[in-house]
Amino acid sequence: MRDPLADYRKKRDFGQTPEPAPAPLRAGADRRFVVHRHEARNLHYDLRLEQGGVLCSWAVPKGFCYDGKEKRLAVRTEDHPIEYEHFHGRIPKGQYGAGTMTIWDRGHYELVKYTDWDDAIAKGEIKVRLYGRKLRGEWHLVRTQQSKNSWLLFKSRDCFSGHSRDNALGIDLELAPAFESDGHLEPMRAGAERAAFADPGWVFEMEFLGRRAFARKDGEQTNVLDLDAPPTALVEALAELRCDRATLDGVLVALDDHGKPSRAALDTALASGDHERIVYYAFDLVQWEEFDLRDLPLFDRKAALRTLIPEHPRLLYADHVAGNGPALLQAIQGAGLPAAIGKRGTAPYLAGESTEWVRISAVAAEPSATVDDDDVDDHAAATAENRSASLRVRFRPTNLGKVYWPAEGHTKGDLLAYYQAIADVILPHLRDRPVHLNRFPDGIDGKSFYQREAKDGTPDWVRTVAIPHDDETVPHHVIDDVETLIYCANLGSIDLHPWLSRVESLDRPDYAVLDIDPKDAPFSHVVRIARAAGKLLRGIGIRPALKTSGKNGMHVFVPLLPHYTYDHARMFIEAVARVLARELPDISTVERLPSQRDGKVYLDFLQNRRSQTIVPPYSVRPVRGASVSTPLFWDELEDHDLSPRNFTIHSVPERVQTHGDLFRLALEDRQDLVAAIGALQEVLEGR
Ligand code: MN
Repeated sequence: MRDPLADYRKKRDFGQTPEPAPAPLRAGADRRFVVHRHEARNLHYDLRLEQGGVLCSWAVPKGFCYDGKEKRLAVRTEDHPIEYEHFHGRIPKGQYGAGTMTIWDRGHYELVKYTDWDDAIAKGEIKVRLYGRKLRGEWHLVRTQQSKNSWLLFKSRDCFSGHSRDNALGIDLELAPAFESDGHLEPMRAGAERAAFADPGWVFEMEFLGRRAFARKDGEQTNVLDLDAPPTALVEALAELRCDRATLDGVLVALDDHGKPSRAALDTALASGDHERIVYYAFDLVQWEEFDLRDLPLFDRKAALRTLIPEHPRLLYADHVAGNGPALLQAIQGAGLPAAIGKRGTAPYLAGESTEWVRISAVAAEPSATVDDDDVDDHAAATAENRSASLRVRFRPTNLGKVYWPAEGHTKGDLLAYYQAIADVILPHLRDRPVHLNRFPDGIDGKSFYQREAKDGTPDWVRTVAIPHDDETVPHHVIDDVETLIYCANLGSIDLHPWLSRVESLDRPDYAVLDIDPKDAPFSHVVRIARAAGKLLRGIGIRPALKTSGKNGMHVFVPLLPHYTYDHARMFIEAVARVLARELPDISTVERLPSQRDGKVYLDFLQNRRSQTIVPPYSVRPVRGASVSTPLFWDELEDHDLSPRNFTIHSVPERVQTHGDLFRLALEDRQDLVAAIGALQEVLEGR
């Protein structure tokens, strides 16, 4: 009989590779699957299905997509031994498949259409239902006509299907225990009142006036716990959740005749059965499939929740503002709402009151009387009215017809329209940071000047912050809201240059940045270096974010807990740059002097300095084509037609509509460098 693992053995030297040598074949009891993320010469995902005592394997270069219309190439590779299910590690250079192999997902599967494997292979059509920690639902593998090893992988239509590029549950469930459905669920509640504060470790949500409730999907069944007659539309919406089973925490809200959330309106609506006004805002996820998520950090629970929520007017994801309590408080005061809830991002879900959640009242405390909810509403509404009166049309943009990009004919009006359109995604990256302007009052070919100081005559509604600099104190602009953003753009500041640290902690950057700067080197070299940088950083436990510079380079951002000095951040990035320059000596250099760079790409680690600035995601650049610094998926580095000039003031708003802000997680995913520095040291010493 043919040895199914003959190919596997032949390709490997088990004295050199850490991969397992096959033990004698044994049939598995249930059908297991594993997906390896394999950072070999080209990043790909290896899907392995257990069958007949081996793991049948496919290499999927582009990974998994929940949009069934995207059919992705899957190349059948040699069968792997069962032991490979648990393998992860680094396959050394020179060995077959050299690179890093990590377990990206695992679980079990069922054969759906042809339940006999040999049948399915003979028909060239394998349909599986996956029960993984990221991948769920039905997937189709269909052999193509081209060759016996060439297959297409795509999502079959079911409740998990979606339109986004990748809505696999992107969190680590290793620490999640099994969920017991009959266990008692007690909601977590704010355990303290605080004044508004800013802290990158916290997120801030609106407090919704309504009725707190758990909502559940359990296969075909959906319901709202403790509610005998839940709104029909909500029950239908819950059926559309992109999962088989989940328990959401949230609030039922109804609007009164003035369009404001009101408990009275909710009670009336529930009692009368007039459910049209009721909306459920989901803000937490305590169960996903068979997993209890309550031990996981809030950041992870909300990230998971967001992937599940369908587009439905009665079931909404309660979004939050990361880090900046005062900004949210200002917004909710404007909307006439009573309070914000601050939540610590790393906190687990705890039963009952906890100081990991705090209530932040939008209403200045009145020392005398206690007020009931209706009074609070009125008071807040009055405050909001006063505010919006003082904010009304604070300035008029000027010279909108002036041509800023002569080659393309784009005007200043186009620039302002772009910033207006992407304000929601750029503002979180500007808030609370001093910003320098780069003004081009006559367009990109005219004279320009770099402006650090907010001049006399800056309107008083523009936030400025005084920063000591040498012997003087220099007021800097801070762009916290859309009006200030448009104000700065109206000054002709085509690009914006925020600091890497925030106003509250000017000496503690919350990003470390590697600037991959090609000058005249080819963009393909930039791509290779960015790929290597991502691989290196992930290999030492970092979750980096990637964007184009908007010109010809790229920026790799490492979000930091604000514990480190600029010196720390610079030393870390310098070490990263030196490893990369050693790995790719033909195309990259850390040489500061342009004349000494030999046409190589410069790995600039010196941007990690106080008062040094780098453009944020979505900043326009003052170059031909009106290109924009644009966040990328890491696997876009594999796209052959990737060009930084394709991301412009005209294409980026649509991209943001499709993918959302890919840098959003970077705002929240603050990372510790201690373990990474140790791991990097090992790499530097050539372990
Ligand atoms: Mn592979």
